[in-house]
Amino acid sequence: MPDYKTIADLLLPEVTTSLEQLLAKYPKRQLKGGAVVSRFAPSPTGFLHTGSLFTAMIAHVLAKSTDGVYIFRLEDTDTKRTIEGSDRELVSQLLSFGIVPDEGYYPEGDKGEYGPYRQSLRENIYKIGVKHLLERGRAYVDFATPEDLAAIKKVQEENKVLPGYYGVYARDRNLPLEEVEARVKSGEPYVIRYKSLGDPNQKTSFDDLIRGHIELQDNGMDIVILKRDGLPTYHFAHVMDDHLMGTTVVSRGEEWIPSTPIHLQLFKDFGWQPPRYAHLPVIMKLDHGNKRKLSKRKDPEASVGYFMEQGYPEHAVLVYLMSIANSNFEEWSFENGYDLDKFPFSFSKMSLDGALFDLDKLNYFSKEVLAKEKGMPLVEKVKAWASSYSPTLLEKINRDPIYFSKVLDIEKERQNPRKDYAKYSDIEASTRFFYDDEFLKIKEGGLPYDEKFDRDFIKSFLKKVSDGMSYEDEATWWNSVKEIAAKEGFAIANKEYKANPDSFKGNMADAASLLRVAITGSRNSPNLFEVISILGKDRTTIRLEEPF
Ligand code: GLU
Repeated sequence: MPDYKTIADLLLPEVTTSLEQLLAKYPKRQLKGGAVVSRFAPSPTGFLHTGSLFTAMIAHVLAKSTDGVYIFRLEDTDTKRTIEGSDRELVSQLLSFGIVPDEGYYPEGDKGEYGPYRQSLRENIYKIGVKHLLERGRAYVDFATPEDLAAIKKVQEENKVLPGYYGVYARDRNLPLEEVEARVKSGEPYVIRYKSLGDPNQKTSFDDLIRGHIELQDNGMDIVILKRDGLPTYHFAHVMDDHLMGTTVVSRGEEWIPSTPIHLQLFKDFGWQPPRYAHLPVIMKLDHGNKRKLSKRKDPEASVGYFMEQGYPEHAVLVYLMSIANSNFEEWSFENGYDLDKFPFSFSKMSLDGALFDLDKLNYFSKEVLAKEKGMPLVEKVKAWASSYSPTLLEKINRDPIYFSKVLDIEKERQNPRKDYAKYSDIEASTRFFYDDEFLKIKEGGLPYDEKFDRDFIKSFLKKVSDGMSYEDEATWWNSVKEIAAKEGFAIANKEYKANPDSFKGNMADAASLLRVAITGSRNSPNLFEVISILGKDRTTIRLEEPF
């Protein structure tokens, strides 16, 4: 008479290590009190989704802010959905965001003592767990084919009962072991299912770090733990991996809430303490006044690649995501800046109705972040972006990187600098006038001088300014411009102008605007004296003397 052990040995003869021996290889971590071991566990099924970056950032900050450990685990057991090469892309994109694993899967080799960190290399580990359950009669062989399962489902639909493999519908749960032995020996394909002890008429509960107490229907399903291909399902891999890796907080998408009773049952069956769970809200978007999930199909910003293409600094994207993760972040940043490792992230400050993605807000944070970056380090970042996405900007940077740096840093020493660019792709348009060849093109399109001045006046006025203005410092320069303007009939004091507009050519704003248009090609520009200082006297003179 075969017993559970006979069947387990027949199914998994290659597994000779016991669960106890396996556990001994992964000793308890020695970490200080309160340290969180967190992990990000994506599947290599395509590009990095913005929601995944959000999830990774949170796992990372949890570990960093508690002196814990952040693990990157590659969940590649769903071989049908795996996209070749996307593991490398995930790893390199996360690294470029500074989300660097303390332990985890790296294409060139794992880092850490609790691996392997790629699930497809953990097959033997899962099988040890499966064998342990089989030997104790807590898992069993199920020979049902997809057609059999469809037939069971049909009956359930007819009887209007819950679909699934459970209770009386769990066809192979109580097969005589002789029959199991004979059918396995005959080569019939099978999966291994967990024998649930749960009663779906009962409730089960757990405390979620974000949502508090959650009560759910208990799990009564005999879920598959080992598939026909010998790889585990998510549920089983999650329990074994997070136990062996010593994960203390599982932060994952809210779509996993309904499966949590399954996971808690498995932890209990193994006699293991479950981790704490934090089920993260989905990132939403306002679409014509309605909230909906950020969609891969409809929204380019659903892909992290979009931010990279647009040239948002990675740090700015994270800062923005943190502002939607914790509502108090923005206020905190006014005092403390944008060092995310210093931010006391808290699940209790997380909104439950879904984080709302708002491109305008991203632009705001990105401008703020960029306003604080300058010098050659900023040039290097823009250059790295331009090398992939903008050959024309790259060519301009390469002409003279130091000049480009001055252009980028305009107004940055001021209290409230202008924030003309939110992303690297905005830079080229807002700095064209600094390049003479581009400026000529702008001029060809006609410059937007105020039409109340005729061409001859503009020409003669700007010539006088060019001849007489000082280049010394901003105050001296402005005084010299004022003096010339006054001689040419502009009112220096706006009050006087307002009282008597007809006796003047215009006010100082009008005069300055003529200069601004001649020098920058626009009525709206950064501080004119700073522009002039970057262009230098010769180029400024040419622009003032040839204003059309
Ligand atoms: N691979 C799972 C996913 O991508 C991970 C969920 C988890 O973090 O446990 O949804």
